[in-house]
Order: sequence, then structure tokens, then C-alpha cells
Amino acid sequence: MFKVAKFGGSSVSSAAQFEKVKKIVSSDPSRHIVVISAAGKRSSDDHKLTDLLYLCHAHLTYGVSCNDIFKAICERFIEIRDALHLDYKIEDELENLKAKLNKDISVDYLVSRGEYLTSRLMAEYLGYFFLDASDCIFMNFDGSFDSEKIGSTIKAILKDHPNIVIPGFYGSLPGGKIRVMSRGGSDITGSIAAVAAGADIYENWTDVSGILMADPRIVSNPKPIPRITYAELRELAFMGASVLHEESVQPVKEAGIALNIRNTNIPEDEGTMIVPSIGGEKLSDERFITGIAGRRNFDIITVRKHNMNVNQSLRQALEIFDAYKVNVEHITLGLDSFAVVASAFQIGEGLYNICSELQKTLRASDVQIQEGIALVAAVGRKMSFRPGISGKLFRALGQEGVNIRTIAQGSDELSIILGVDNSQYESAVRVLYDSFAG
Ligand code: ASP
Repeated sequence: MFKVAKFGGSSVSSAAQFEKVKKIVSSDPSRHIVVISAAGKRSSDDHKLTDLLYLCHAHLTYGVSCNDIFKAICERFIEIRDALHLDYKIEDELENLKAKLNKDISVDYLVSRGEYLTSRLMAEYLGYFFLDASDCIFMNFDGSFDSEKIGSTIKAILKDHPNIVIPGFYGSLPGGKIRVMSRGGSDITGSIAAVAAGADIYENWTDVSGILMADPRIVSNPKPIPRITYAELRELAFMGASVLHEESVQPVKEAGIALNIRNTNIPEDEGTMIVPSIGGEKLSDERFITGIAGRRNFDIITVRKHNMNVNQSLRQALEIFDAYKVNVEHITLGLDSFAVVASAFQIGEGLYNICSELQKTLRASDVQIQEGIALVAAVGRKMSFRPGISGKLFRALGQEGVNIRTIAQGSDELSIILGVDNSQYESAVRVLYDSFAG
């Protein structure tokens, strides 16, 4: 078994958090690669080191002194080092960095020091070999990764050093310059390192016990999802559930590596295991809805035309939406009508122009708009095997007075998507959760 364990900013925010990481890492000898973020917030009114480093750079750009901010950054590192009784001469590194603080310093280099220095401390604390991301995470100018070179480099290093720490969030460009990824990019580093090492599991340690079945701002104390497929995760994420960024999921998903989201503060929780497929499940094993997600603010535009030529009318309509750069989320089809669901934000000011073009081009007898629609998706791989699921969903919603304005089911029966009034969005999520998950 070979695991890559990535620890996010909150997991390395203080010496006490470092101690938790060490306990986790040393409790399982298969955790051979550890990817580390920059120290994050210790409390809600604290600052992430990455934010402070960006702030330093902004000061330098405008010719304002960043000494106070830089001092606060140095203190964070020294405090962790001293509390853990480490030998690392971080003052030398910080002095060197200070000498380079002028308006010409590369923002990517400066900001990457958050991950670099946090990882140096962690490597010494764990007794793991420190492998700089600039020596193993090779990036192309377009932001993509040189997977082959990354793979051969990491595999070669592992031969001599079976346990390594790699800083997240940055890599090097051809020529060696440092380049950072998008915010939260350490998740991507972890995923790429897992693929490079041919890991069995990519563990993503954070401050929640996995992906929750519903938005905790709507449902109180929703249960975490124990197991989910990558396909289900994509549906939930698309419908608004806040999960890992697609860019960090893609590499391990493609390589067929399982991704386990875990909580550094409650390591005994098993978190959420995301897998390519789940075989041999009995329908009675678990709940048949994996998760519920949704988004507000959609419009439904309904077009009616007597004796409609469906293919032609849909083609014309899609061209119009395309011209206004509006992505069509769903289409429902009737004999002499169809309805298009799209984000009100994307439609924006174009609403009346889109409707008038639909009316003219399609020679429609009627075009109607329903605004303020929320979409709620019930996602579950087991729904496809169960007759009567939709009936149950609708009965539960009907009993609570939630009026369903539109319905769509994915062709792979992985999700049922319901359109309700924005004002009934939260009730719909709660009813679905209480009826099928609670
Ligand atoms: N430290 C970086 C950020 O705050 C990257 C990461 O934490 O993943 O965005």
C-alpha cells in the first residue's frame, strides 16, 4: 500500500497542528509522500501565510514598506520551529528572502515561500526527506504539467528516499523559474504526486470529516458521505456542492486512484472515500441518495409553436443561446413546446433580446419566462436500480408544499434534478435530506 497524504493550511497552522500531522503520518507507514500547504489560519480572525505574502508583494509594488507584515510572517515560522524544538536555521532563509524584497521580486517566488518554509519545518519534524517542488513538479508555460518528467523524477527519488515531503502549490517552469498554481493548488500537487508515484490512495487531510450529504448552512449537521464515485462527485460539484476543485480531482480520477478526504482534527473519522466505481453493493446496504446539492437563480424560457419541427427549432434556439454565451443547463421537450433552463446570471441583460430572437427566428406562437428558479439535485448511483424513487421524491416534496416547476433526470439515472421557486429552495433541500438521508 502506498499513500500520498496532503495536509491543508489549517492542518499546519501551528505547532499543535504539526503534532497532529505527525501522529497521523507515523500511525501508517504507507504514508510515503506528504504534501504540505503554507500555514493557514489558527482562528477565524487570523491570516493565512499565503495571503500575507501576497499582501507583502502588493506593498512592494506600490512602494510601501511591508516590514510589519514580513515580521509577522517570520514570527509564525520561528514560533513553530521553536515550539517543536527543531534545528532548521530558518532565520538564514528569512534573512535571504528579506534581502530580495523589492518591487522586482517575482510574486510567484515570494508567495511560494509559504509552502517551501512550512514544508522544510515539517520535513525535519517528520524525519522525511525534503523534496523541493521546483525539483519535481514540472509545469509548462500554459499551466499544464509535464507528467512524464514528474513521474520519472519522483520515482527515482523514492528509490533513495522512501519517505518524502513535497511543498504544495508551486512548481517550476522550463528554465527553472517558480510558478504558483491557482489558489488552493496544494490539492493539485497532491493529486499529481499520487499519480507520479503510482499511489493506491490520495489522502486529502483538511478540517472537515469529508464531503457532507447536504449544505450545512441549510441542513443542520448533515451526515458525511462515506463512499462516492467520481461520477457522482462531479454531479454534486456541478450542482454547487463545495468539494475539491476539478483540477485536483482529474489526475487521480484518470489514474483510477481512490481519493480519501479526512479530518486532521478528528483522524478517527474515516471521511469520504471517492472511488472510480463501487462493485458488489447490495441495494439495501446504504442509502440510495448519495448527496443533495443545488443552486439558485435560474430562468426557464418556454417556447411554444404549433406543429413544431423539433430538430430545427432546438438547433435554432441553441444557436441563439450560444450567441449570447449562455450555457443551457436542461431542456424539457413537449409535443409543441420546449423549455430551456439557464442561469439568470449568464442570461443577464440579454433576457428580452433572447426571447425576442427566439420568437422571431423560430416563428414561435408564444415565449414565456419564469424567473427565480432554483435547481435541486438528488444524486445517487443506486437510483438507477430502484423503481419508484422519483415517486417518493415528489410525494415527500408535495406533502411539504414544495411546488416542482421542472424535472430532469440524467440519462445515466445518476441524478434527478428538480426546479423549484428560489423561495422554496431551502425547504426542498431539507425535505429531500430528511426523507432520504436523515
Ligand atoms: N497556500 C495556498 C493557498 O492558500 C495553496 C494551498 O493552500 O493549497 O491558496
